[in-house]
Amino acid sequence: STMPPLLSSIANAGRHGVLAKSAVVMEQLGATTTVAFDKTGTLTEGTPRVTGVEVLTGGGPDTHELLRLAAAAEHPSEHPLGRAVVRAATERGIAIPRATEFEALPGRGVRARVGARRVRVGSPAALLAGCDGTARQRARTEVERLAATGATVVLVVVDGVPAGLFALGDRLRPLARQTVHDLAALTGNTPILLTGDADTAARSVADEVGIGEVHAGLLPEDKVELVRQREARGERVLVVGDGVNDAPALAAAGCGMAMGRAGADLTLTTADAVVVRDELATIPAVLRLSRRARRFVV
Ligand code: ADP
Ligand code: MG
Repeated sequence: STMPPLLSSIANAGRHGVLAKSAVVMEQLGATTTVAFDKTGTLTEGTPRVTGVEVLTGGGPDTHELLRLAAAAEHPSEHPLGRAVVRAATERGIAIPRATEFEALPGRGVRARVGARRVRVGSPAALLAGCDGTARQRARTEVERLAATGATVVLVVVDGVPAGLFALGDRLRPLARQTVHDLAALTGNTPILLTGDADTAARSVADEVGIGEVHAGLLPEDKVELVRQREARGERVLVVGDGVNDAPALAAAGCGMAMGRAGADLTLTTADAVVVRDELATIPAVLRLSRRARRFVV
């Protein structure tokens, strides 16, 4: 071909299933020293299922009512955890009422009004901070017990009171472990994990894929800060993410890559490259390509 090496590398990347924004992106990819993975929807399939429902307060909403309220609040949400809650309610034949005043808080959860009730669903760490002391302590104990199993735990707060917990589980994407291994070999550094989820759930995924460095409980802006710090130390960070919560980190990083299904949320406006084929193994393949192309550029 008569194309300059970097341009033909874009075409080659395309054949591997990665859409790169520009030739510069291919060059940045080739210079990567550290790959930072998001967890939910990136290393995992992103279609978690509710595996347990626990009522926290006697006299409060029962299991059925918890699912009904939470599903109503999550119905407008596009977050994989929100979808899972809606699915759990639907599978149990629960009619989901329409919520009002819906608001998504990226990295934290959702809030909405369901009839006369104010419902919040989301990260226990974020939601418990605003709850009364005794209830908070009880909820924390239960959260830790469920989290110890490796589950992702989501809290439901009704009218300011912690009312229940959902345990959710997600499967690893195929080839996640192999991809981490290949990227470690290519960059010389084992990839790291950045997640909004709690530490226990994050570590259980990290152990399965062979990642040692885990940063859990991060808000979207914390992911940005972490990426900036590493780049200030001279590292070239490739952030791989899938959700709106990852958008700021993808934009801040030397290179941001979005996993395909997120196409609607994360297009080439925030990411530098999109894994269109939605397979993790394409990432090391494209890194290899970009390195080969780079050798021709001085
Ligand atoms: P990750 O970084 O693993 O992709 P997110 O940043 O999207 O995770 O979410 C971090 C945490 O915020 C989740 O583990 C969950 O506790 C909470 N969360 C965010 N959105 C929702 C939602 N729609 N429903 C329930 N919990 C949510
Ligand atoms: Mg995610």
